Amino acid sequence: MLKFSKQLFMNIKYKLIQLRVNLRKKSKYIMEHIIKVHIDRWRKISKNEICIFCSSKNDLTKEHVLPKWTFGNNPNDFFITNINLQSQKYIKTTIPCCANCNNNYLSYLEKYITELFYDNLRKTIYNFTNDNFENIIRWLEIIEYKFQVLEVRRKFNKHKSNNFIKYISNYPISVFSWNGSPNKVITQIRNSIKNITIKSKEKKLNSLIIFKSNNKTFFFSHNLNEYIFLDLPKFNIALFYFYDKEFVNNIDAYNYSMEIIANIYKK
Ligand SMILES: [Zn+2]
Repeated sequence: MLKFSKQLFMNIKYKLIQLRVNLRKKSKYIMEHIIKVHIDRWRKISKNEICIFCSSKNDLTKEHVLPKWTFGNNPNDFFITNINLQSQKYIKTTIPCCANCNNNYLSYLEKYITELFYDNLRKTIYNFTNDNFENIIRWLEIIEYKFQVLEVRRKFNKHKSNNFIKYISNYPISVFSWNGSPNKVITQIRNSIKNITIKSKEKKLNSLIIFKSNNKTFFFSHNLNEYIFLDLPKFNIALFYFYDKEFVNNIDAYNYSMEIIANIYKK
């Protein structure tokens, strides 16, 4: 691990501003592309890909929805989609992103996050500033957006317990999550873009819970538009974030998150 670097922490602000500006400028075009290629019922099958952060068609890379370091690069770690009960490996869970956005902004943010967690690893009490909190929130919101795009790109295919149903197999998974409403899916993706492009995260600070964890294995759970829960054994840290809720104080958010986590582990 690299030495905690001051430069990295000074530059992150400008990197994130650039990412937000690009996404805001291109969001209309990106949405039109997603609708045309993945949601429109009358769409033609197209291999046309664009970067989902700046709409560039050049130097496209495969950006992992969950960064590889979160699941320890384990090629066998997977998640199961409730809608069709199909499993998918994290290592193969990627979305298109241009080399510039990937290397210049997203990797930079990853580096910031890992250094920040590494720096706090041995501390008994975490030493996170509001700026740190805001940037962790931005990172989690970017993950949410990547998941939204992933779900609209993945096709329903078949339900494990049912026979193959041909006329729905080509439908995006996310359309099923919203009772077959493509408009709802479009609104949700738009919202997650909006969340990323909002300048201040001040009102959302209480919605992020960070706590020490002794869990030895990586754990991840999320509900689109609701929450994300990440347990990162590499840093003995667990994160819980409410995408759509604001709290007057951190204690309410903490209690609520613990209820949800207890339910997740019961399953
Ligand atoms: Zn890009």
